[in-house]
Amino acid sequence: MAERPLTLMAVHAHPDDEATGTGGVLARYAAEGIRTVLVTCTDGACGDGPGGVKPGEDGHDPAAVAALRRKELEASCRVLGVDHLELLEYGDSGMMGWAANDAPGSFWSTPVADGAARLAELLHHYRPDVVVTYDENGFYGHPDHIQANRITMAALELAPGLTPKVYWTTAPHSAMRRFGEAMREFGADWDEPSDSTASAASAAPEGEAPAAPELPPIGLPDDQVTTWVDTHAYGSQKFDALAAHASQGENIFFLRMGKERFTDLMGTETFVRVRDTTGADLPEKDLFAGLR
Ligand SMILES: [Zn+2]
Repeated sequence: MAERPLTLMAVHAHPDDEATGTGGVLARYAAEGIRTVLVTCTDGACGDGPGGVKPGEDGHDPAAVAALRRKELEASCRVLGVDHLELLEYGDSGMMGWAANDAPGSFWSTPVADGAARLAELLHHYRPDVVVTYDENGFYGHPDHIQANRITMAALELAPGLTPKVYWTTAPHSAMRRFGEAMREFGADWDEPSDSTASAASAAPEGEAPAAPELPPIGLPDDQVTTWVDTHAYGSQKFDALAAHASQGENIFFLRMGKERFTDLMGTETFVRVRDTTGADLPEKDLFAGLR
């Protein structure tokens, strides 16, 4: 069999998610000579338009937004050293409950089997040793993130035995408390999760019981995080990759904190290992532990 490089594939929902969730590992593993493949499932057309104009407002042209965001995504990939960018080009489904959820061509309304079949072709083509995507809650309940998890897990079933290690991105609750402090400091809305009740829908003022959760919890207790990858040395690249998504800059509060603080806060990327055939000990510090 021909020698092939160790390969990391990250499956993301929108342009910019690659930078937020996995910018550090993409940059680090590219620097270590590992081939990196980014699959972006949607066109991001529900993102902000020029000047921060929102979907449905005058001046929001979804096709123009998608075209701009594609250019930004390509720039982000250059910063991160991504070797191959694959676009599935489904329609951005918007946030849960938006009419865009059910629009023709939206990712959320696409049968899982359809997306999985396309992703399985990419799995066969690249034969990634490590695949990374979101957890079953799409980390925070965004329909396109949930769908990315679903098609990825279904695609892996269509390509059995190809990928030794599969991960979901996560955030340990200790880090989420630090995010919360930073978000308040830098002027973003945030309610701190607690270990058992963390939920975007259940946040409550301190000392009060949270409302019944409508969304599954965000992140994990620290002792359930299996994999902690040190990417501090790549904080500058991760920051620059986020900055490449300039049209969404208003929503990317991280950019307000500057590189040093950003790297301090975001310099460890964390995952939960959901498939493994290597037997590498947990917790681990390397997505490729057991493979090299
Ligand atoms: Zn996203």
